[in-house]
Amino acid sequence: MGQGLKQNNLYLLGAPGAGKGTQAQQLSALLHIPQISTGDMLREVRSQGGELAATLSSLMDSGKLVPDGLVVDLVRKRLSRPDCQGGAIFDGFPRTDDQAKILDQLLVEQNRTPLKVVMIDVPVDELKRRLVDRLTCPNCNRSYHAVDYPPRIPYRCDVCGATLVTRSDDNLHTIEKRLEAYFRQTAPLINYYEKQKSLIRIDGSKKIPDVFASILSCL
Ligand code: AMP
Repeated sequence: MGQGLKQNNLYLLGAPGAGKGTQAQQLSALLHIPQISTGDMLREVRSQGGELAATLSSLMDSGKLVPDGLVVDLVRKRLSRPDCQGGAIFDGFPRTDDQAKILDQLLVEQNRTPLKVVMIDVPVDELKRRLVDRLTCPNCNRSYHAVDYPPRIPYRCDVCGATLVTRSDDNLHTIEKRLEAYFRQTAPLINYYEKQKSLIRIDGSKKIPDVFASILSCL
């Protein structure tokens, strides 16, 4: 990886429902760098069935994190693909202190520019409200909201036309567990990146285009 190459390595940090995936997709289209969503990659592995899929389902549907080693392997492989030469948008990774350290190390090893971290801040009640009524496209991973951002045709993805689903972890019980995991294991990364002086906080409670504009204004 040439150091002279202009790269954007962005990490969107935030709780489930903060809008990381939605913003990452839009940033990816604008900046022409791929979104690396570990959640999407794990759901893809899970959809292939087998023993690993069963383990993943049980962890993900109970709102627990998947072991670091597995997630890091997926990210390492994804980063080695040529489309990541100009950088990547990390969505949902890192989620633990160890993952953050491994990512820092990977970026150094691969001579990549350091991460810019955008923390998308949303109050807990609003996160829950968004997640319970979220609809997801299982084909292109776009998210909708039954009230705030309904699809043009009920239950059809505006972009690819696939039938929208409710993710198996978007139920109130699992949402609570996912939020607990976020506050216990991921939120401490705010401090980690603040110490590195690489963290920018933005108000994620606004409408999607306004949040997008806030992110762009700090890049
Ligand atoms: P997400 O699509 O980002 O909401 O992730 C859905 C689920 O996938 C999480 O609740 C975790 O079980 C798992 N997951 C996604 N990313 C990670 C990660 N970086 N580390 C561990 N587990 C993850």
